[in-house]
Amino acid sequence: LVAIENVNKHFGELHVLKDITTTVAKGEVVVVIGPSGSGKSTLCRAINRLETIDSGEIRIDGTPLPAEGKALAQLRADVGMVFQSFNLFAHKTVLENVTLAPTRVRRASTSDADKRAMELLDRVGVANQAQKMPAQLSGGQQQRVAIARALAMEPKLMLLDEPTSALDPEMINEVLDVMVQLAKDGMTMIAVTHEMGFARRAADRVLFMADGQIVEEATPTEFFDAPKSARAQDFLSKIL
Ligand code: ATP
Ligand code: MG
Repeated sequence: LVAIENVNKHFGELHVLKDITTTVAKGEVVVVIGPSGSGKSTLCRAINRLETIDSGEIRIDGTPLPAEGKALAQLRADVGMVFQSFNLFAHKTVLENVTLAPTRVRRASTSDADKRAMELLDRVGVANQAQKMPAQLSGGQQQRVAIARALAMEPKLMLLDEPTSALDPEMINEVLDVMVQLAKDGMTMIAVTHEMGFARRAADRVLFMADGQIVEEATPTEFFDAPKSARAQDFLSKIL
């Protein structure tokens, strides 16, 4: 579903993605892990072209990422993104947050969009909050709304960039549980997270990045129990 080939990206002098090559199959769950500044967010952002790349190619369903216009809007509609900060529209209700894109971009009718949104809010466990404003919800609830909002576009791929790292500890699991369920339902996912419980429960593969490179690519069991590189061993000793 996603092919990333020899991708390079610089920010000025800084070489943040160095010859990144990997593929993600349909239904696969890939967890990206690595030290701060290693390029994890930049890679995620490059995949839905929130960030341009200097060389190499990223293809989704065999099609190179479009540079602009309708094709780019279509790509963004097909790729759901959830960030560390919840990024909900503050002046819209929870329900409106979820129905906005389907009605505007997919031209769904209001009643269809409402019905679908309520199903999704139910699926992530916040249907009873539908008429509230985002600020009235806990961080964990807001993040689950953000996931429902992304799912409302029926994405082919979900990118999650540290979706739990801004949450209080007691709210982390409620978001991880939703992500595990999504993975079980067959969603193709690329998730940047240091939550090893999630990686072990849901990931097919772990990508360990350091200094802009993929240093190690392994199953969660291989990676956490027997990391091969010194960089990964060092990193894991700090977070475990
Ligand atoms: P973290 O774990 O802290 O989120 P990360 O692995 O996601 O880190 P990136 O955000 O991808 O790392 O950043 C990679 C490098 O690129 C960092 O050195 C960062 O400072 C730099 N960088 C990121 N965005 C920009 C930008 N817009 N302009 C300049 N430098 C940037
Ligand atoms: Mg990041």
